[in-house]
Amino acid sequence: TRRKLAAGNWKMNGTSADLVELEALAKAHPTPGCDILICPPATLISRAAAAASAQIAIGGQDCHQKDSGAHTGDVSAPMLLDAGAQYVILGHSERREDHRESDTDVRNKVVAALSAGLKAIVCVGESLAEREANNTLDIIGGQLAGSIPDVVTGDSLVVAYEPIWAIGTGKVPTLDQIGEVHDFIRIRLETRFGAGVGRSTRILYGGSVKPANASEIFAVSNVDGALVGGASLSATDFSPIITAL
Ligand code: 13P
Repeated sequence: TRRKLAAGNWKMNGTSADLVELEALAKAHPTPGCDILICPPATLISRAAAAASAQIAIGGQDCHQKDSGAHTGDVSAPMLLDAGAQYVILGHSERREDHRESDTDVRNKVVAALSAGLKAIVCVGESLAEREANNTLDIIGGQLAGSIPDVVTGDSLVVAYEPIWAIGTGKVPTLDQIGEVHDFIRIRLETRFGAGVGRSTRILYGGSVKPANASEIFAVSNVDGALVGGASLSATDFSPIITAL
């Protein structure tokens, strides 16, 4: 059985004053029934790792595909690990859009992350136009095929389904729509990687997850947790989402 994962993506939010949220989360969940992860901005990873207790993992939001070199402004996977990260989010739709990251870029980053010893959360998701054109499963299938390398383990790979139109909008797919995509991702993983990896890889839902809708989303088949943006910024909002898992 897959251990559930409540993951928070702080995006480009947070300064040292916000580290108190981590302490509050740790205090509220001394022995959580699921894995808890916070991905703060890179500037905070080291201090977040020190502030978070053992039951809260810390992750990055991106990494470069190379381990070191002349790449101004970038951060590598071994650097994230060295700073105290255990996970890294890769291929978030905001990176695919803001930084023109392709499936191939994401795949190369996943290879770098896994070989550094990080767990990789690979994000996929369709735009509103793609959903309205009934292309959702084709888009997701293509992103999975292109963004996930051939060699992975179920322990180190996490897939996050984040419909772009649900991110930060308060709009959420129906539970049937979420289930359809999660079941599809599960089958694709099993077909490509076999039952071992296919069944042990966790599949998260992301996009306007809040305390009020978390329980019903977590009851959908093949939803193994959530990747939460806005509601992960405060312990008050994130804590009931963790409890709902
Ligand atoms: P929101 O929870 O703010 O919609 O963000 C979702 C997301 O993009 C997490 O990576």
